[in-house]
Amino acid sequence: MNELPPQQATAPQLLFCTRCHGQIDETDNYCRSCGKSLKPGRGFLFTHTGIILMACILGPFALPFVWMSKAISPLAKIIYTAVLLLVGFYLLVSLYKAFSLINNSLQMMMGDLNNLGNLSSVVNF
Ligand SMILES: [Zn+2]
Repeated sequence: MNELPPQQATAPQLLFCTRCHGQIDETDNYCRSCGKSLKPGRGFLFTHTGIILMACILGPFALPFVWMSKAISPLAKIIYTAVLLLVGFYLLVSLYKAFSLINNSLQMMMGDLNNLGNLSSVVNF
């Protein structure tokens, strides 16, 4: 019976330090070779879960976290960016629609008020 070593069973993703290119572990806070802090871009907010969570709260404003993240792949960054831009564009369009709707009803209300004003002046005469 050949049992797989634990490393192979979990299929670890190889990560490398951005400064010295030494191999690092996903759980490392600092590079084992040069001591570079690996935390920036690796915290919870930079994981897929964190980014999706923030995208729900911040919308397109979560984009900086997408691009600062060192925990997701470049392809994932592009997909997140496209989705966030689409959502941002959609929000902008709905905001514009809501604004013109409010604007229209305001103008209608103003028209009604003007008519009312004209009516009362006619009655007063
Ligand atoms: Zn290093």
